[in-house]
Amino acid sequence: APGLYLVATPIGSARDITLRALDILREADVLAAEDTRVLRRLLEIHGVPLAGRPVMSYHDHNGERMRPRLLTVLAEGKSVAYASDAGTPLIADPGYALAKSVSEAGHLVTTAPGPSAALAALSLSGLPTDRFLFAGFLPSSAGARSTALAELGRVPATLVFFETAQRCALSIREMIARLGDRDGALCRELTKRFEEVRRGKLSDLLNGVISDPPRGEIVLVVDRDRSEVGEAGIEVALREALETMSVK
Ligand code: SAM
Repeated sequence: APGLYLVATPIGSARDITLRALDILREADVLAAEDTRVLRRLLEIHGVPLAGRPVMSYHDHNGERMRPRLLTVLAEGKSVAYASDAGTPLIADPGYALAKSVSEAGHLVTTAPGPSAALAALSLSGLPTDRFLFAGFLPSSAGARSTALAELGRVPATLVFFETAQRCALSIREMIARLGDRDGALCRELTKRFEEVRRGKLSDLLNGVISDPPRGEIVLVVDRDRSEVGEAGIEVALREALETMSVK
């Protein structure tokens, strides 16, 4: 059917792609990718022929220019499969403005769900999975970062952060300062050869990061505040929420 298909791709292990995702990549009229070379390589691995179909590049820096072009393709009644470099498009990856404008233009937007680094890490973290907040990458400026951590510190949910190997020690140090020494998990190179999950207090993780610096791609997962203050804070927040509701 015509429309935009958001196709999730592997986060490490090339065979982590769904059969339906491959069907969609095989059948779409037009392919679009954050990095066309990465998509071509994936198609090659799985024996999906391009068969002369266009592969358009779509990323944050050409989005404004490319959206009208992709909308034209969709208006012609064609299907477009969009993939980012790894994992689920739009999740700390390009595609949000595209999906929004395609849906506003009245075309179908649908998904071929699959790998997601955030969910893979959460499920391996050993931390509660009943309620979580995906925080993406912390801002790079020091001020914005401490504001973000102060806000997140009050959220009664497991927190999931994307990190880089270079910045990870700095981030954990700031988390200890702003959130307290909570339980955490450092999830690295998931589904790849050097997959590793380190669990412990943030202070243990920090010591580990200093003595044995982690390489590669990292997701940090942090528990909610378990201190009495935190638990009491949640009670207060819940009571206030209930009171507000009953007033209405
Ligand atoms: N859209 C992707 C997804 O749904 O998984 C995330 C893209 S984001 C630009 C890249 C970040 O995801 C990395 O910096 C890292 O924090 C995390 N990541 C991606 N692949 C990973 C892996 N195999 N192991 C651990 N973290 C990973």
